[in-house]
Parts: sequence; C-alpha cells; structure tokens
Amino acid sequence: MQKQCNCGELMNLKLRTVIFSGKVEIDNVPIYTCAICSHSEVIPEVKADLSGLIQELGDRPEKQSYLFNECNEWANILVEYKLVQKTAQSAQYKLEQMIEQRTNDLLDLYLLAQGLKDEVWLDSIRKRLLQIGAQMKN
Ligand SMILES: [Zn+2]
Repeated sequence: MQKQCNCGELMNLKLRTVIFSGKVEIDNVPIYTCAICSHSEVIPEVKADLSGLIQELGDRPEKQSYLFNECNEWANILVEYKLVQKTAQSAQYKLEQMIEQRTNDLLDLYLLAQGLKDEVWLDSIRKRLLQIGAQMKN
C-alpha cells in the first residue's frame, strides 16, 4: 500500500485525524503522506465514503467527533493492521493478508446472513465487502 508522490518519492499510508469545518473531528482516516514535500491525500478507496460522511454533516455541523473506521472497512482493516504490527510475533503479517482474511470473514458472514434471510444484515455486509473491493457472486 504505497503510492508515488508527484515529487517522485514514495508516500506512506497513515491514519490521520481530519478536521472538518474546524468543528468535526474524523479520526482514523487513511491518508497517503509524503515525507519529502509534505503532500498528503486521502486514499482513493475511501474518498467516496468520506465525502458522503461530510455531506451528511451539512454546512454548519455541530462540534462532534467520528471514528471513520466504524463506517469504512478500509479504515477498519488499517486500524487492526496497526494493532497487529505492534505485537512482535506477527511483525511479518502483510496488509494484503489481512485484507484477504477480512474478506473471507465477511464472505462467511454473508453466507450466514443469506441463510437467515436477514436483508438488513446482508446489506451492511455487502457494503463492507464493496468498500474493500471484493468481488461477489450472487
Ligand atoms: Zn512528495
């Protein structure tokens, strides 16, 4: 999960707090940052969700804070990844593996929800799978 900056340097992926309208704090937003020129940008995978959240807040939001990882699966995986990295025995854990594992877990849940015919649950799992770009067969 790296991207090349306009200046040629590789950007690092970090979880940052985004402050909107000077009032709303959105924590754990995955952002690419460049150590050389300080350029930063929200990762493309979460842009739609983040702008959706900001739209919902409207023009004059109340002072409040959000955990972006609670409404976006990418942010969720990255928060878990950061926790896993802190423990020595799983230092070799790759982000790609975590995404794959999370996708598998969600697909298992999806099958379970399908069996229970729980439409609301199905929808929320479907949304999470789409957020991490999983392909689904019907
Ligand atoms: Zn740069």
